[in-house]
Amino acid sequence: MLRTHTCGELRKSHVGETVTLTGWVQRVRDKGGMLWIDLRDKFGLTQLVFEEGKTQEDVLKQARKAGREFVLSVTGKVSERYAKNDKLPTGDIEVVVETYSCLNESKVPPFIIEDETDGGEDLRMKYRYLDLRRNPVRKGLELRHKIMSETRSYLNEQMFMEVETPYLIKSTPEGARDFVVPSRIHHGEFYALPQSPQTFKQLLMVSGFDRYYQIVRCFRDEDFRADRQPEFSQIDCEMSFVTREDVVEIFEGLIRRLFLKTRNVDLGTFPHMSYDEAMKSYGNDRPDLRFEMKFSELNHLTQGKGFNVFDSAELVVGINATGCAEYTRKQVDALTDWVKRPQIGAKGLVYVKYNSDGTLKSSVDKFYSEEDLKAWANEFGAKPGDLMLILAGEANATRKALSELRLHMGNELGLRDKNVFKPVWIFDFPLVEWDEETKRYHAIHHPFTSPHKDDVHLLETEPGAARANAYDVVINGSEIGGGSIRIHSRDLQNKMFDLLGFSKEEAQKQFGFLLDAFEYGAPPHGGIAFGLDRLCAILGGSDSIRDFMAFPKNNSGRDLMIDTPSAIDQEQLKELGLKITS
Ligand code: ASP
Repeated sequence: MLRTHTCGELRKSHVGETVTLTGWVQRVRDKGGMLWIDLRDKFGLTQLVFEEGKTQEDVLKQARKAGREFVLSVTGKVSERYAKNDKLPTGDIEVVVETYSCLNESKVPPFIIEDETDGGEDLRMKYRYLDLRRNPVRKGLELRHKIMSETRSYLNEQMFMEVETPYLIKSTPEGARDFVVPSRIHHGEFYALPQSPQTFKQLLMVSGFDRYYQIVRCFRDEDFRADRQPEFSQIDCEMSFVTREDVVEIFEGLIRRLFLKTRNVDLGTFPHMSYDEAMKSYGNDRPDLRFEMKFSELNHLTQGKGFNVFDSAELVVGINATGCAEYTRKQVDALTDWVKRPQIGAKGLVYVKYNSDGTLKSSVDKFYSEEDLKAWANEFGAKPGDLMLILAGEANATRKALSELRLHMGNELGLRDKNVFKPVWIFDFPLVEWDEETKRYHAIHHPFTSPHKDDVHLLETEPGAARANAYDVVINGSEIGGGSIRIHSRDLQNKMFDLLGFSKEEAQKQFGFLLDAFEYGAPPHGGIAFGLDRLCAILGGSDSIRDFMAFPKNNSGRDLMIDTPSAIDQEQLKELGLKITS
């Protein structure tokens, strides 16, 4: 090694030793007679000191040329500092430099490489390799590494085996568009990049691998949304001869272990909730359970009193904001404007204030007596001091809007603490959903998900009512993982493809390999996949998955550093048999 110690290592006990350090210049302070350089590497920061009259003249002269981010190698004696810095682990000492060599110079970096930087997002992404020198960014990746290595140890202990599956494949139906790769050798033919290794992991079960996992890159060509990445990583798993309960037990264990090892948080046993319950009580299949604020349905108490908005609504439903009766007119108006924004889409907001003196005041006093409002308050379990917020309209849309309002109120009231973690398993999703646009059913999870064993008969009579043997893990309102018990019989899989509107030929063409495999002794199997990036963000207390990726793309799918996507030259297009037409 070119060094004897790292920049984070030296303590008082090293005083008197001669050491060699290497690293980057974080800061230079030249006070004339004295010169200090803070030398940084990924392990920490050490103060170097040069003193006129003591340090050799040529060493001092050279050191004076050092600028930010120069790479140095220095040798000197560890000495106790007069002015200690208790914020630095190495703050008790400094190194009195004797020999100095500049291993490489650096241009002035485009932004400050410290915990707080002056660099904007785009600039930091363009120079991501410099951004990665900053502690908070590096820490994100250290957390990711820890999560990956803990995951591997846990799954290895549980007799899982990591198997790599190919990236150049054919479409996998996870509901997004595929990224495709043109074949040079077979003009007009394309590979697709995997949206997930779903079919391969199922085939590994047919092969008898029993328990598979892979920390794997997946690719989905979706419209760009904040905090979506076209490529992302999954902890992808599959097991043979298991029921839903087995999968739940093993993977609840994994998540519990990750929280314990990285956050020292014991999540305990995860509660279970049905999809129906989640939708009814939270308007969302990813409920944030850090706070209660459950929905109360009010149709029976509100209709038939002449208020047309409620009378004509499929659903009248509300939440109770504890302690918000003191909201001013202005605050309530702001909430009304908030729910009326196109992203939320509600037509209006009805409120009832349960004043601390026990009186009730609503925005619909014209239609409802105080007695009526009391009955509503009862339904909500509201107390004096509370504010009830009510929406009405078509059931699904109204639930969705109220769910947004609930989360908004949760934020307003400070109920969504990043350091509190509330996991929940969601079960009994519908198997399929009718799509008006394409006039077809489509699979809620994916076409390989098995129907609930009691609902198989519904596939023929009332597919929309059949439940899937699927499960999601949700933490703090984010879906961190999901999976299902799979179909393992060719007949049932055919039936499913049929239901989803695949012709026999289409199904055979696209998934013949899997259907064929099901005829050679496919074991019952099931699995799950976790979004690694999201898991890192939750464990790291951040809203952005980008903070946990070494080289992420921006919100419009561009990598600003390598400048891609980008055009390819005519020659390459020709070779691939492609022509750009627009
Ligand atoms: N392949 C599924 C997904 O990517 C997960 C699973 O069913 O195991 O969501």
